[in-house]
Amino acid sequence: MDEELKKKFDNLLKLQEVEIETASVQARLAGFPRLLTDLDARLKASEGAVTLASGRLSEIQQTYRVQEADAKVIQTRIVKSEEKLRAVKTNKEYQSSLKEIDDLKRSLSAVEDRMIAHLDEMDQVAASVATKEDEVKLLSREIEEEKEQIRQSALSAQEQLDRLNDERAQIIAVVEPDLLKVYETVKQNSGGVAIAVVKNAVCLGCHVNLPPQMFHDLLHFDTLLVCPHCERLIYPATE
Ligand SMILES: [Zn+2]
Repeated sequence: MDEELKKKFDNLLKLQEVEIETASVQARLAGFPRLLTDLDARLKASEGAVTLASGRLSEIQQTYRVQEADAKVIQTRIVKSEEKLRAVKTNKEYQSSLKEIDDLKRSLSAVEDRMIAHLDEMDQVAASVATKEDEVKLLSREIEEEKEQIRQSALSAQEQLDRLNDERAQIIAVVEPDLLKVYETVKQNSGGVAIAVVKNAVCLGCHVNLPPQMFHDLLHFDTLLVCPHCERLIYPATE
């Protein structure tokens, strides 16, 4: 095994490791804004439920107030009809007044029934508004904490990225320019990963068997070899 080649190759391998890690950190960083907007959307949906329930509550309250006013009007009419009843002269007038009072009392009772139903509904909806408001408060706290965690993760990912960039610069400084050029070209042509390990004569970059002679040469590793199928730079697995 050519020790010098081995050393050069190890640098390329390190470079590849750093680049793969860099790509994964960059992908994580790119995902953070989406996580934050998802959290905002969750909170907004929860606040929307409160607005909806509050709207329903004021509708019922408004209806209730209208019914209350209706009831007062009917009550006033009942009082007037009762006064009229006391002043009637004929039996016919008396009967008709009684019927009028009876009708008014029936419609008052109908309005009062509806008011009671609305009071019940008002209680239920008010309770649901309160519950939903509590949920929003709780969720808002949770989301603030999650956002803070995301911001911390983004910070540490950025630090990691800076470290990786430094590391990459250090490796590149010691790799021969010609070898680096080969590495970059292979990387471009093979979808981002330039170097593949070969295990039991199989290139793990493309899972195709190497020709026996090539595998034999690879085990000696005294020249740079390229997989005939995926054209990646190859090296023998150590175990
Ligand atoms: Zn291959």
